[in-house]
Amino acid sequence: MLSVILPAYNEEKMIRKAAAAVGGVLTGAGIAYELVFVNDGSKDGTWVEIERTAAEDPHVAAVCFSRNFGKEAAMLAGLASASGDCCAVMDCDLQHPPETLVEMYRLWEQGYEVIEGVKHSRGQESVLHRASAGMFYRIISKAAKIDMSRASDFKLLDRRAVDALLAMPERNTFFRALSSWIGFRTTSVEFDVRERTEGESKWSTWSLVQYAVKNIVSFSTVPMQCVTVAGFFVLLLAVVLGIQSLVKYFSGHAVEGFTTVILLLLIIGSVIMISLGIIGYYIAKIYEEVKGRPRYLISRKIDSSIRDGERGKSKAQNI
Ligand code: UDP
Ligand code: MG
Repeated sequence: MLSVILPAYNEEKMIRKAAAAVGGVLTGAGIAYELVFVNDGSKDGTWVEIERTAAEDPHVAAVCFSRNFGKEAAMLAGLASASGDCCAVMDCDLQHPPETLVEMYRLWEQGYEVIEGVKHSRGQESVLHRASAGMFYRIISKAAKIDMSRASDFKLLDRRAVDALLAMPERNTFFRALSSWIGFRTTSVEFDVRERTEGESKWSTWSLVQYAVKNIVSFSTVPMQCVTVAGFFVLLLAVVLGIQSLVKYFSGHAVEGFTTVILLLLIIGSVIMISLGIIGYYIAKIYEEVKGRPRYLISRKIDSSIRDGERGKSKAQNI
């Protein structure tokens, strides 16, 4: 069975449409499915709509948050309460085309475990939005060491990948990047972002900035290392300026006492900055430990038959 997770925040007009559209496409393709709506503390009638849709459609399951916890939390809650052999996550504003789900499902049937939806086109956006999104993705791609420029939250994951994600103890998750981080047999499917038909985007510019900072910080410790690099530049400057002031001092051109001040300032400045960098490095290590990511993930394993006390051919075992 395929579980489709649909996070919804103030989407009262979209619930019924999404259930009908996704349900229609999946029924048409002969795929057994359930729809898991996650009401992320909506302030409008989203939950009432979900209840109504669930009463009419036996495929619909739902989770309701006590307040708005954000899309990341909503997606994970949906994955946690999904019971399918594979789970897909998609926006319930139908900007992710339901037809692509079928394509993803077929790839899953072929044995892929993580099927990423990548944006073929980004739909209509303002120039500023596009530029800042571009910058964010460049930084995060470097940090996560994965090309994220066309990544989206539209994905289909095998049960093993879902369980691996859910077992991740870290609090600040970045679903898009984590789903690549866990590995597994991965492939991607391109899709065109559609226009939103009802309601409006839930992302203000400020919330996007917060989102970017939060995710860069939760995936990378590079910003912390900037201090160290800056410290070395200051040290370099210190050496050059130091030599210059010493030359002036010995050739008798320096103002009385000024050389000492310059030298002290430069040396202390660079030592402080480099020390901060070193402390930062340890904090980065602590941070990585605290995140508690597993050291590795195993996707499958073969036990030797001798271990079971029986000789002969080894059997593949899925864990
Ligand atoms: N969403 C959510 N919680 C939030 C914000 C958004 O669950 O705090 C859901 C929203 O209902 C939609 C999806 O996340 O299904 C994508 O949101 P939106 O369409 O506003 O983002 P955009 O498509 O503009 O990136
Ligand atoms: Mg949208």
